[in-house]
Amino acid sequence: MFQNLTSGEKLLDLWPYLLAATGIGVGIVTGFFKARRIQPGRFKWITFRNEAIFAAINLVVTGFTLGPLNSILRKKGFIVLNHATVSWWVVALEFAVYFVLFDTWFYWLHRGMHKEPFYKWIHKLHHRSTSPNLLTTFSVSPLESLVNGGFLPVFLTSATLIFGGAHDKSVALIVPFTIWMGLYVHSGHEFLPRWWNRTWATKWFITTTFHDQHHKYFNYNFGGYSQVWDYLCGTVRKKYETDFESPKGSRIDTAAAPADNPANSVARPESAPAGGALAAGTR
Ligand SMILES: [Zn+2]
Ligand SMILES: [Zn+2]
Repeated sequence: MFQNLTSGEKLLDLWPYLLAATGIGVGIVTGFFKARRIQPGRFKWITFRNEAIFAAINLVVTGFTLGPLNSILRKKGFIVLNHATVSWWVVALEFAVYFVLFDTWFYWLHRGMHKEPFYKWIHKLHHRSTSPNLLTTFSVSPLESLVNGGFLPVFLTSATLIFGGAHDKSVALIVPFTIWMGLYVHSGHEFLPRWWNRTWATKWFITTTFHDQHHKYFNYNFGGYSQVWDYLCGTVRKKYETDFESPKGSRIDTAAAPADNPANSVARPESAPAGGALAAGTR
């Protein structure tokens, strides 16, 4: 049977069906991604090329700084990993502690990086991308990579000094999660279901739309993992939930969006919220 299917003769008989199936598959995948594209039609080849160059520079510089730093801290005994057998809830607890602490670290340092002169020196490069894609994740100044990536050695050194070391299984969860979250929020597509912001159990966690709007409107949505600090500081964009429900509705704003970002212009069609004054008044 299997041999029959793989023989050229059989495939020759089946090719019209295979062609139809492939066409339907491509149609579904294309439609799926198009329907979930947050900022339709804003791909620019020059931006993409610049992002590729900045990403390459950043990955090389970061690899030669954070990599050796982690090695030195491990060799000197400042970072020790616990390889013992561990219950799932201990791993979950360590992950939760990391999640809350990094979320706090990211929010405040991110807001700090929106202040001059730090914006110009560190964060401006990442905001050259007003319509993020996967490459935008790495299109970051090496200094910003050190600011954000510096959290892990600080966290693991603190865990070593206080508890004798985090479990290797927790680290095996944390490291891919940080990369995955970065890629997810810069994917340019919203994959989460529409009900995400309607339940309290899920709405605290940020979405791609949330961070995409940070790139588009600049003064809002500073959080890295959760909305908690944005909610407490009044920096959540008011139309975020409406746009999340209907991503194509934000199409109306796309003409105004480039002017909203200081990478392109000084004029902004939307005024910053009270909590966003820190960021708004810095440029
Ligand atoms: Zn920013
Ligand atoms: Zn970003």
